[in-house]
Amino acid sequence: MELDARDPLAPLREQFELPEGIVYLDGNSLGVLPKAAPARLARVLRQEWGAQLIRSWNAAGWLDLPARVGDKIARLIGAGPGEVVAADSTSVNLYKVLSAAAGLQRSDAPERRVVVSERTNFPTDLYVAASLCRERDWRLELVETADLPARLARGDDVAILLLTHVNYRTGWMHDLAGMTAAAHECGALAIWDLAHSAGAVPVDLRETGADFAVGCGYKYLNGGPGAPAFVWAAPRHAAHARQPLSGWMGHAAPFRFAPEYEPADGVARFLCGTPPVLSMAALECGVDTVLAAEPLGGMKALRARSLRLTGAFTALVDRHAAAWALRVVSPREPERRGSQVCLVHDAPGGHGYAIVQALIARGVVGDFRAGEPGPPPCPDILRFGFSPLYTRFVDVWDAVERLAVVMASREYERERFRRRAAVT
Ligand SMILES: *Cc1c(COP(=O)(O)O)cnc(C)c1O
Repeated sequence: MELDARDPLAPLREQFELPEGIVYLDGNSLGVLPKAAPARLARVLRQEWGAQLIRSWNAAGWLDLPARVGDKIARLIGAGPGEVVAADSTSVNLYKVLSAAAGLQRSDAPERRVVVSERTNFPTDLYVAASLCRERDWRLELVETADLPARLARGDDVAILLLTHVNYRTGWMHDLAGMTAAAHECGALAIWDLAHSAGAVPVDLRETGADFAVGCGYKYLNGGPGAPAFVWAAPRHAAHARQPLSGWMGHAAPFRFAPEYEPADGVARFLCGTPPVLSMAALECGVDTVLAAEPLGGMKALRARSLRLTGAFTALVDRHAAAWALRVVSPREPERRGSQVCLVHDAPGGHGYAIVQALIARGVVGDFRAGEPGPPPCPDILRFGFSPLYTRFVDVWDAVERLAVVMASREYERERFRRRAAVT
């Protein structure tokens, strides 16, 4: 397609192993395999582990992986060197930063006992926050997106605002700076989950004044299934915030083997146990695929491309919306849109799940997120993620053409597309 031929970012796609004939619109769930990863993992296995054995902790830089990969991720989210570490899962890191933030609040404001989040936030974020609240006899309050500013305006009791920058379900992108300022205004701390932002949309953590952030390695960062996540603490907090999972890798001097815990100076105190070296190596390959865009304009250029991709998909679906009973529910305003497009099937009963399955059978991979009765109810969502690194304009076109076939033929009514698998 001509748009692809003229696109200066098009060569970035060559960094990936992409199966022939597949239009992959699920990089917001699991990113694709970087070509560099198999060779890198083979080297870590055979040479570093097989031949060098324990010497590799020093010689191959294994011990530095959390900080080294963290520094690379920092460049994508507007953080400085030494401010990010790669470690554990997003869920675990969220617990650490929630607890650290709660500790900071408690010292000077014991009457603040509410964590505010969005009802449509990713469930693990809510489960972890609920757990923290249970431990402290605090309360988790779930608010509708539109009601957040009003809730913060009367936020004398709010200790922490916990939001995912780009909502996994609605595709809504919060104003990170504005919401952080609103949280600070009422005396709360702001924690951001960047799971659907890192590698997809520009983030400037330092500029926005946020307090803590976490994010995911296996989505737009292409770090591989179950890749380590990351954690950022604002420099003003990093040196004195305490996180509860005080393992030896977060100690000021792990190899002193002292019986008392003494946290490392900066964000390294958010480490807990030994890094998963194989997964870290794969994650580094994934992060490198995003950094490869730096000479081409970096996240800003990727964002422009992402908006054109999601904009084109939205416009093409809009043309047929009435005939297909499919409605675009992700934001149309570019400044509120992440890198995904969400559709709702408005027919009685809704066949969202089966439509996604029928599309997958035709080589267009998106996913399905089940609705929730509410009130107010959240509809079932057909979700399509557009990684600006490897999705082409021709893919947008092909995806909608195949969607047209699925809708016109009512293929989704077939029994085999309606059977739910464990992972949707
Ligand atoms: C994907 C995602 C997670 C995943 O957490 P894990 O601990 O890696 O399973 C958490 N939060 C959000 C918002 C996500 O999108």
